[in-house]
Amino acid sequence: MCIFCDIIKGKLPCDKVYEDENYFAFKDIRPKAPVHILIVPKKHIEKVADIDGENKNVIGDMVVVANRIAKDLDIDKSGYRLVINNGPDAGQEVYHLHLHLMGGKRMIFAA
Ligand code: 5GP
Ligand code: ZN
Repeated sequence: MCIFCDIIKGKLPCDKVYEDENYFAFKDIRPKAPVHILIVPKKHIEKVADIDGENKNVIGDMVVVANRIAKDLDIDKSGYRLVINNGPDAGQEVYHLHLHLMGGKRMIFAA
């Protein structure tokens, strides 16, 4: 039972912006910026704290996908923020690893 796994499998609807063999990206349902995309691995990993020597490539791969989407959506020059929340104090709401890509406005607040 994981809503992002269901989105990836097409069991739940989403606004998809990217898909390849191992990664999937879609618009955040409650956007905090004009561009707010979530990049997820298709393989279920709960959180960034579960990244280790075996699966550390996932982080780099998600950044590559985010950079590509940023170019496609024309926010590569204006800039963007990449965020991963881990656990309760960071406000992680969905326990399927995801990278937030946010841009399209000035975000002058502390990380
Ligand atoms: P977190 O707080 O876990 O880092 O971020 C979870 C994000 O997923 C939130 O920004 C939230 O708006 C988004 N989200 C939660 N449920 C859904 C959903 O069913 N569809 C989409 N597209 N986004 C969702
Ligand atoms: Zn999942």
